[in-house]
Amino acid sequence: MTTSPPEAKLLVVEDEPNIRELLATSLRFAGFEVHVAADGATAIKQANTHQPDLVVLDVMLPDMDGFTVTRKLRDSGRILPIVFVTARDSVEDKVKGLTVGGDDYVTKPFSLEEVVARIRAVLRRTRGENADDAATLRFHDLELDEDSHEVRRGKRAIEVSPTEFKLLRYLMLNPNRVLSKAQILDHVWDYDFRGQSGIVESYISYLRRKVDVEEPALIQTRRGVGYVLRLPQEST
Ligand code: CA
Repeated sequence: MTTSPPEAKLLVVEDEPNIRELLATSLRFAGFEVHVAADGATAIKQANTHQPDLVVLDVMLPDMDGFTVTRKLRDSGRILPIVFVTARDSVEDKVKGLTVGGDDYVTKPFSLEEVVARIRAVLRRTRGENADDAATLRFHDLELDEDSHEVRRGKRAIEVSPTEFKLLRYLMLNPNRVLSKAQILDHVWDYDFRGQSGIVESYISYLRRKVDVEEPALIQTRRGVGYVLRLPQEST
């Protein structure tokens, strides 16, 4: 068995054990090296020991808030990008104000796909790897920009809702691969949507009306199996 080097080293700081485990497991599965901490003091120790490339940081921690942790982490002068995890409340505005310089944030409840996408986008920006191109997903004449959240088909700009955007991104990350409703639900929706596969059908149909206005239709149904982003097969 060969193992490829991790994409980046992450430190996940979260006091809720379930969410911490969920994040750590998913991020490892996505190819990252992951260290964890359950409070701010441990986070600072872990950051010194492991020198992570990015920190996923819950704003509400038992011993200090995420802003204090951020200040302490950056006291050393190191550039350390942060993806904040926050509840959807008044703190969200404070986090927004803080994330202007290349950091980013996700609100709870989040989808794992969203967290991974944010982490990759922040790493790309801070590493400056041909940022423009890396942020664009393409399939046939369809384009999705992960940073600006713009979607185009050919020259036509397509307005999509945040959920439609996440769904389309998931399809575009897996072209020519049939995705089951359960897989889509898991990757695109918050973890409290389990079992509601009807919502996937609805959103696929919203997306079709926007994306597949022109031929060829790219979003295809595999009856009884799921959905796939694929060019129509030529009959042979
Ligand atoms: Ca917390």
